[in-house]
Amino acid sequence: MQSPIKLDRSSTGVVIVCAECPWWSAFRFTQEDAWAVAIRHEEDHHPERFEQRNAARQRDYTARVALATRR
Ligand SMILES: [Zn+2]
Repeated sequence: MQSPIKLDRSSTGVVIVCAECPWWSAFRFTQEDAWAVAIRHEEDHHPERFEQRNAARQRDYTARVALATRR
């Protein structure tokens, strides 16, 4: 299942928006932080999507964030 969250890179950082939550958006200076914000939003507001997502994709997604946030 596709996440409703989109990450928009700009020259100054990354804007995180959610197609299902027009009232919500966030900004982070790095892609790594943006991923972490996106995952937290999904866990908090779209837990059903988070669980339904294909297992391999989910592993990849969380592994990427784990790697990114460890730096
Ligand atoms: Zn949302």
